[in-house]
Amino acid sequence: MEKNIYDTVIIGSGPGGLTAAIYTVRADLKTLVIAGKEAGGQLVITTLVENWPGFPEGIHGPELMKNMQKQVSNLGGEIRQGEVEKVEKINEGFGVVLTGGERVEAKSVIVATGAGARWLGLPNEKELIGKGVSGCATCDGMFYRDKVVAMVGGGDTAVQEAHFLTKFVQKVYLIHRRDELRASVAEQKKILNNAKIEMVWNSEVKELIEREGRLGSIRVENNKTGEEKTMEIGGLFVAIGRVPATKFLEGLVEMNENGFVKTRTNEKYPTMTSVTGIFVAGDCSDSVYKQAIVAAGEGCKAGLEVEKWLESRN
Ligand SMILES: Cc1cc2nc3c(=O)[nH]c(=O)nc-3n(C[C@H](O)[C@H](O)[C@H](O)COP(=O)(O)OP(=O)(O)OC[C@H]3O[C@@H](n4cnc5c(N)ncnc54)[C@H](O)[C@@H]3O)c2cc1C
Repeated sequence: MEKNIYDTVIIGSGPGGLTAAIYTVRADLKTLVIAGKEAGGQLVITTLVENWPGFPEGIHGPELMKNMQKQVSNLGGEIRQGEVEKVEKINEGFGVVLTGGERVEAKSVIVATGAGARWLGLPNEKELIGKGVSGCATCDGMFYRDKVVAMVGGGDTAVQEAHFLTKFVQKVYLIHRRDELRASVAEQKKILNNAKIEMVWNSEVKELIEREGRLGSIRVENNKTGEEKTMEIGGLFVAIGRVPATKFLEGLVEMNENGFVKTRTNEKYPTMTSVTGIFVAGDCSDSVYKQAIVAAGEGCKAGLEVEKWLESRN
């Protein structure tokens, strides 16, 4: 009797993982999605998504992800709660070990575990998360109503989030270590004409100063002049990059120096990792675009490639 083994186990239930599942399930492959701690991925913590095609008025992130989950389930895909701790190579394919010890087997694996916020690395930063320090303005902005806050970063995320914060707060200082933003021109326009946002160029946050158990002020240094100033703020938002959720794959698949999973330069299977049979999609291998539609597109590619690869082995 043939062993009960999945054709593919998809790790992660963001747009990358769920799109991959839509394709593998429709190709009649026995598919299991392991949802991770954050079922639905990053879009679950945001509000309106205006750049997902097909929704002229936009769609709320949680609704979009609920629809994708429903689509996978309706097609017959299995989505299981749980977090993957380890992937092991075995004769028939892979053993995928979940927290708590449960182990499932699969002929192929698609990694779509996304990425999370990168922090400044200041000594008391972690303790102050939720007490004046945040990595997600969209999630926490409303708690800072009428306050003066600062945002660190210069890319699309920092700029979008600074703009978003102006709905609630009195003022946003946008602190950037360079003298120009990396954000797209469209995003820059939104904030450079916004009277509630003041740019603090060539500057870095050097110290988080606590007051009564919360962040009270920050010490900021101008990296051109060396000048220092203390800024009284009610909140600090950090948007300086992402850390991929790939630690559990260390020693198995090849990654770059920041932990983003590398793909092979293989024309036939562009989403295959350094390990034959393990594919990757979305933010955990993408430090450039970081967009849901890109993750979904890669999920589609990974799903199609898994189908083709499995077929080639029969
Ligand atoms: C606040 C915010 C607003 C955004 N707004 C937009 C927007 O308007 N438009 C846009 O295109 N993009 C937006 N993005 C970016 C977009 O959300 C991401 O590009 C997209 O979600 C990436 O999809 P993904 O599938 O690669 O990963 P994610 O969405 O990050 O999903 C990763 C999944 O992997 C799971 N996981 C992680 N580790 C494990 C593990 N060990 N075991 C099992 N599962 C695991 C997680 O639980 C999660 O389900 C936004 C992001 C944020 C944070």
